[in-house]
Amino acid sequence: MQQEYPSQLLERAVSEFAKLPGIGRKTALRLVLHLLRQETEEVERFAEAVTQMKHEIKHCRVCHNISDSDVCPICSSPQRDASTICVVENVRDVMAIENTAQFNGLYHVLGGIISPMDGIGPSDLEIDSLVSRVAEGGVKEVILALSPTMEGDTTNFYLFRKLAGYDVKMSVIARGISVGDELEYADEVTLGRSILNRTPFQGN
Ligand code: ZN
Repeated sequence: MQQEYPSQLLERAVSEFAKLPGIGRKTALRLVLHLLRQETEEVERFAEAVTQMKHEIKHCRVCHNISDSDVCPICSSPQRDASTICVVENVRDVMAIENTAQFNGLYHVLGGIISPMDGIGPSDLEIDSLVSRVAEGGVKEVILALSPTMEGDTTNFYLFRKLAGYDVKMSVIARGISVGDELEYADEVTLGRSILNRTPFQGN
């Protein structure tokens, strides 16, 4: 078998980097050779940051956002309006909306959206815990801020039906974002405006 690299250790490191999204073997090799040129302590810091993150990071038990503690800083902040919950697909959406500085409520991270094509059903998502949060009372409005795609619409409608029996206003973010755009890529101004200009969800 022809060996591509002069070292199996190098080969192994390149293979691991090449598993990352958007990283081909060429880029992987460049990154690995870069690390090889760094001080040992620098590389150890790098490796430790990744390992420690994996071992110690938690998900907030209320909203499922990534957190260093059991309850994330957003959920535990007395400054936030606990009567409004913004439902998003993933952690990156939370970051995107936080960057707009236009939303002062709490979040609920579903961990995906309903997508039969990808085999993702309601039970794969944090939907029951959202219903529980609403059932506990104190929530006046649930804002659906999912991607404006067919899967996003399906999930919106599913959530609408799940929460229909509760005294809670349901709204959907305004579609300033063109169809098919991922929420996280929308610019801050557009995203901020689409939250402020949200409209009541039409369930029929
Ligand atoms: Zn939280």
